Amino acid sequence: MKEHLTGMLLVISGPSGVGKGTMVKRLMDSDPSIVFSVSATTRAPREGEVNHQHYHFVTEAEYDQLLEKDAFLEHAEVHAHRYGTLKSEVEERIARGQNVLLDIDTQGALQVMEKAPEAVSIFILPPSFQELERRLRGRQTETEADIQRRLANARHEVKQLPRYTYALVNDDLDRACEALECIVKAEKQKTTRLSIELEEK
Ligand code: 5GP
Repeated sequence: MKEHLTGMLLVISGPSGVGKGTMVKRLMDSDPSIVFSVSATTRAPREGEVNHQHYHFVTEAEYDQLLEKDAFLEHAEVHAHRYGTLKSEVEERIARGQNVLLDIDTQGALQVMEKAPEAVSIFILPPSFQELERRLRGRQTETEADIQRRLANARHEVKQLPRYTYALVNDDLDRACEALECIVKAEKQKTTRLSIELEEK
């Protein structure tokens, strides 16, 4: 039996601090068929972030040029910075049968759902807003103003939950990662993504 797979677009959203980054990393370590779409952003790199690996860090002028060239599949302003998914990170790869993962906010996810209704969307929730605040403070990467902005955005983002195909609560990292892997495994087996040729012998 021969299986031919069509590439899948995986959209993952969730409030800042929910543990999305760790879950995405674990998923990608467990499944090499998934490639990460590196977004462009005008935000400054955090310590340890590598240009072109975590983000394409661009200036405001460079971002404007990308907008002008219609280079984005979606784009949005998040936490006072601009972020966008480059078509060049996605389109060709999907056509080649790769599974492309977008870690984007709800504004961007809604744009992608409009353009690509077949995309698989997953929203990751914290166990509570209190726990989210504790995690955001724990990572010590943001200023107080940033933390407040991210918490306010979280309440707003959660309202978009019903628009997503799946929801996961990250109350236990191992359990949440396992559930995420299961979703991806099941989605890959959809008849709409598989073309199976049964051989005679
Ligand atoms: P951070 O600054 O913490 O890396 O990301 C902040 C938020 O921006 C996260 O919710 C992340 O998912 C979102 N984000 C990252 N890249 C993109 C993108 O290309 N488009 C959109 N719409 N959101 C993005």
